[in-house]
Amino acid sequence: MRMGIFGGTFDPVHLGHLRAAQEAADKLELDRVLFIPAGCPPHRRAPQASAAHRLAMVKRAVADNPLFEVSDMEIRRAGKSYTVDTLAELARSAPFNELFLIVGIDQIAKLDKWRQPHKISEYARLVVISRPGVKISAVKRKPASPVFRSWSKEPIFLQVSLLDISASNIRKLLRTGREVRYLVPEPVIRYLRSHNLYYK
Ligand code: ATP
Repeated sequence: MRMGIFGGTFDPVHLGHLRAAQEAADKLELDRVLFIPAGCPPHRRAPQASAAHRLAMVKRAVADNPLFEVSDMEIRRAGKSYTVDTLAELARSAPFNELFLIVGIDQIAKLDKWRQPHKISEYARLVVISRPGVKISAVKRKPASPVFRSWSKEPIFLQVSLLDISASNIRKLLRTGREVRYLVPEPVIRYLRSHNLYYK
């Protein structure tokens, strides 16, 4: 099985995530995309919503798409959520799957800080998806970047529809009492309203 792995804080999950995952699946002919909400992301400040709420929102967001699945493995695992541990676990539990690690291009600058990047690249092929603000051509033009030297295989760069949607902007809209329709799936909006998330 060709499996996409899409990790993130998903605080909250939004249509930018879902559309990018769908396009990556279509372009790479993936059989499944596994969304993995981070329990405790190592390289950023703590998420605003609890892991249980973020997981519940991702479950609601992907429920109507047979290509998409959610895993709570990083939330169940104690300590910081390192991608290398997640991939090792996935490789152990389903050794015949071909893994594609999907990351937004904004994450490229942070990849140097990831734990054991070389090992990550042995488990999975890195797929870098476009996002507004960073041009793929500009990243590709920097072959000397230590990020790429530490990966055993060339990353795949994918141009997907540029949707200028971010969880931080959605949190801000909610905090200031503004509308988030058409940025966030309806079932997620119902969930975050009923649990009063992000309003303060
Ligand atoms: P925040 O604004 O809180 O930093 P975010 O919107 O970037 O959050 P994350 O959960 O941190 O969301 O992102 C998970 C993954 O999805 C990352 O690899 C990120 O680059 C990617 N991603 C997020 N939003 C988009 C988008 N609009 N288009 C393409 N990729 C995206």
